[in-house]
Amino acid sequence: QEEIVIVGAGQAGAQVAQSLRQGGFEGALRLIGDEAHPPYQRPPLSKKFLAGEIGAEGLWLRPPAFYTTNTIDHIPNTRVVGIDRSAKRVQLENGDTISYGKLVLATGTKARLLPIKGSDKDGVVTLRSIGDVDAIRDRLSKSQNLVIIGAGYIGLEVAAVARALGKDVCVIEAQDRPMKRVVSETVSDFFAKLHADNGVQLRLNTGIEALEGREGVESVKLNNGDSVLADLVLVAVGAEPNDQLATDAGLDTDNGILVDGAAQTSDPDIYAVGDCTRFHSGRYSRSVRMESVQNAIDQAKIAAQALLGQDVDYDPLPWFWSDQYEIKLQIAGLSEGYDKTVVVGDPAAKKFYVAYLKDNALIAVDSINSPRSHMMARRVIGETWRDDLLPEA
Ligand code: FAD
Repeated sequence: QEEIVIVGAGQAGAQVAQSLRQGGFEGALRLIGDEAHPPYQRPPLSKKFLAGEIGAEGLWLRPPAFYTTNTIDHIPNTRVVGIDRSAKRVQLENGDTISYGKLVLATGTKARLLPIKGSDKDGVVTLRSIGDVDAIRDRLSKSQNLVIIGAGYIGLEVAAVARALGKDVCVIEAQDRPMKRVVSETVSDFFAKLHADNGVQLRLNTGIEALEGREGVESVKLNNGDSVLADLVLVAVGAEPNDQLATDAGLDTDNGILVDGAAQTSDPDIYAVGDCTRFHSGRYSRSVRMESVQNAIDQAKIAAQALLGQDVDYDPLPWFWSDQYEIKLQIAGLSEGYDKTVVVGDPAAKKFYVAYLKDNALIAVDSINSPRSHMMARRVIGETWRDDLLPEA
């Protein structure tokens, strides 16, 4: 069997390698990643790992020996900088090249940066990797005033951890409610209150003018003229796909590497999986780019099956979760485009769910401390709504 090279040793890349071996692939398998660690899961980075409740080994997807035992050649600290499609080889940063029979791109995303004056100051950070969290933890231990720019999942999860550590936390959000891009007003309001009750200062409808300080950052200047004290600023305004490698190689990209239902790119010898891809969701009749563990794992399994010659068509039901304080938010489906919501349970009791309907069919459910409704939702999304379709919260 011809050699398979995987670029990016994260959740999706590692899963492709594992599934290929499990599926009986016996050829050479290389997993090239630019980080120092064995492949690891990122969700705890802004939760238990940041809180110091688990160490780095608690993040490994598989024990390091797994890769040797399964003859998966994991090559760490190595960045791929180019793809020569006609010669079928990748170029490494140190000038070396590695040939491939089939190539899989699993390069993930990078944190979006803010084009704002002072963003390059010491003490202004983003959160995507173990290295980022190590630096944040070190800095946080010497800081009192944390400013978080962006009230998305990562920003709010970090706010919750920092409050538990006794830090003063201010979250600044340009929109009029937290997590606006993905949840309804009911859910946004619930989380806004949850954070306020826990002592987070949440400033909505607020833009940033500049990050100020003599050397390191000392304050954040807002567009209403106010200034907020800060000795650490986390920029958490979303992520962008690492698709430049693919674009430079002439593959079709559009804010993500374009793949079909078999995770194949516009070059039949090159596949792509995980956060870096964009594909057509038949279920939701639109093009999507997911940033979730569910997608990283499931699309990786599909790519492995396709590489093993099986007929596949990827059309997943997306799901996601976020932990903030004692609250678990679980999301099933994509709610964008809903025309009606039904709230079941009581937000004041911190146990409820919101069902999102379109043309009276259930398209998504956000569950708050209601795991049963989440698991059920994953089975019944797509069906016509009836009051007894899902359980009580
Ligand atoms: P990644 O895991 O990002 O892996 C990509 C790897 O490729 C990285 O190691 C990168 O350094 C490497 N790479 C990139 N370019 C190159 C190159 N040219 N050469 C070599 N290596 C390269 N999802 C959930 O479902 N639930 C959650 O609660 C959740 N919480 C999260 C919290 C945080 C803080 C973060 C950052 C993400 C969270 N996610 C969560 C998202 C989830 O972690 C991602 O969807 C998942 O990791 C995607 O896997 P991936 O393999 O596509 O990308």
